Amino acid sequence: MRKLAFLLAVLTLVLLVAVPSFAASGEYYSGYWAVTSNAFIAVDGKVLTLERNPVVIDGRILVPARTTFQVLGVTTDWYPSYGVIEMSKGSKSITMSIGNKVAYTERSIKYMEAPPVLVNGTVMVPIRFVAETFGENVGWDAKNEVAYIGNKPAEVPSRSGLKPNRTYKVVIDAGHGGSQSGAVYGGVKEKDLNLDIAKRLNALLKAEGIKTYMTRENDATVSLYARSALANNVGADLLVSVHNNAGNSKTSGSMTLYHPDSSKKKGNLTAYEFAQIVQKNLNKTLKSKDMGVIQRPNLAVLRTSNMPAVIAEIGYMTNSSELAKLKTDSYKQQAAEALRNAVLESLEKMYK
Ligand code: ZN
Repeated sequence: MRKLAFLLAVLTLVLLVAVPSFAASGEYYSGYWAVTSNAFIAVDGKVLTLERNPVVIDGRILVPARTTFQVLGVTTDWYPSYGVIEMSKGSKSITMSIGNKVAYTERSIKYMEAPPVLVNGTVMVPIRFVAETFGENVGWDAKNEVAYIGNKPAEVPSRSGLKPNRTYKVVIDAGHGGSQSGAVYGGVKEKDLNLDIAKRLNALLKAEGIKTYMTRENDATVSLYARSALANNVGADLLVSVHNNAGNSKTSGSMTLYHPDSSKKKGNLTAYEFAQIVQKNLNKTLKSKDMGVIQRPNLAVLRTSNMPAVIAEIGYMTNSSELAKLKTDSYKQQAAEALRNAVLESLEKMYK
C-alpha cells in the first residue's frame, strides 16, 4: 500500500508540475539547461521577495532553497565541498545533491524530475518536490504566473515589462510647497497631499528599479522652472507632476493635463499618449470620475519640459466626499499605485 501511494504521488507530480514555457533566455547550470522564470513564488498567501528569479528545468520550477522554505520553518544546510543539501523540519528531512535527481528522505529514496542546481552561488531546489515532501501543497496560478505553497495569494505585485539593462529616469514633482500651499480645504493643504502621494510613488518606482528624482522631498518652495529644468538636465524619460484639484463642491474625479506640442515625444510615446495612460490608470484604480485629458499649452512645468510630462490632478479637494478619501492612507497609496502602473505602461510603450 505504501508503494502504491508512493507511485501515485510520483504520478501526480509528473502530471501536475507542467508549467508554461516563459519567453526568456536559458543557460546551463550544474549540467542542466535552466530557463530564468518571471514566476512569483508565494507561501501562505504572501508573495516572497527572493534573492534571484526561479528557474525552470524540464518544466519544473526551482526556487532558492533557504529563502523559500525558511518561511515554513524548514532548515537548509548546504555543504558546498560535497555539493550536498540537507533540508529538515521536525522529524522530516531530505538530502539531495547538486545535479543529481536522486533524493533521500528518512524513509526512502526518491526520484526527482529535476535536480537541485547551483545558480551563481544560490542552491535552487524543485519547489513541488520539496514542499510535498514536507507535507505542503503546491498550486499554480497560471493567470498571474504564481507558484504558491499553501494558500493562493489574493494579490500579486505588478510585473513590469521593462528591459533589465536600460536605466529609466522619472522625475516626480510634488506640486506647490513652502510658501505656495496650493488649494486649502477642510484643513488640508494641497502641497502636503501632493508630497505624500509623490513620496509613495517614489518608493513604488524605486522598487521597480527605476531611477527617480524628486523636485522636492519636503515642504520647500521650488520655482516652476526649476522643476522642468531638473527633468531636462537629467534627461528624464517622463515627468509626473502630482496635484489635486479645486472647483465647485459638486465636482469630483481625476483629470490629467498635458502640453499639445508634438515635439515633447520620447521614443514611441507622445505627451498626449502619456496623459491618456495616466488618466486611464487613475480612473481604473481609484474608480474616480473621468474628468478628461486636457491640453494646457500655458502651464510652465509642461511647456518648458522637453519630454512627455503630465500634471495628474488626483481628485477634487472641494468635494467633501472626495477630500475625505484623499485624507486616507489607502486612497493616497492607490493613487500612487495608479501612477506607478501608468509610468510602467508608458515606459514600455516608449521603448518598444
Ligand atoms: Zn495644484
